[in-house]
Amino acid sequence: MTIEVNLNGAHPVSVRIESRIFDPAAERRIESLLKSVWSHIHPNDQIAIARHWNNSQTSMPKVAAADPWWDDFWTDGMCEDEGRLIWLNWTTNRLMPDDVVEATLAHEMAHTWQWAIGKDRFALTNDDLAGTIIAIKYFKRASVVGRVELHADETILRWGYDPLHSVLWKERHLKPSAKDKKWTLRKKPLQVERSRKRASKKQTDAYYLKD
Ligand SMILES: [Zn+2]
Repeated sequence: MTIEVNLNGAHPVSVRIESRIFDPAAERRIESLLKSVWSHIHPNDQIAIARHWNNSQTSMPKVAAADPWWDDFWTDGMCEDEGRLIWLNWTTNRLMPDDVVEATLAHEMAHTWQWAIGKDRFALTNDDLAGTIIAIKYFKRASVVGRVELHADETILRWGYDPLHSVLWKERHLKPSAKDKKWTLRKKPLQVERSRKRASKKQTDAYYLKD
């Protein structure tokens, strides 16, 4: 099913929300989370994203919920088509509370913003990093992908989200089952402080930080 939503703010824009899974609540849930993410985005960034999206002659921007067809079931979201298409891995996201799905969606929107300002993977340098998550001096030899991820997380931090939030929630509440290639909910969440260390390590690893 597909619905169309209007995002108001500094620059209005329409987005299509699509679900490719059986979850009748998915579209409306994503609609409300997307509107919340949009309201967190700085007006200048909203303008950049809306212009970028409206520039496309071919397609309306889309957020789609799907069961992952990609190999890597750890991936909760993906940003494709130069920021015009955001995928949410609904097998995992449907297990998560709204605030966690919202943080994931915000991260993917940050990738859209990178495209909107012309900072795709190869244009992004250490000079674009603010050093708000990891000091830039530790990031001199990071991989291209790592830098893109760190820059996206710095962006959501600036928009008012905690980049560790979804990693920590997953660490506490989900158990990976490599055999079925999916996550399952733990009956009892792991203790916060112990999980925080592991979550931080995972987050840092995702930035491919080398020392
Ligand atoms: Zn990312």
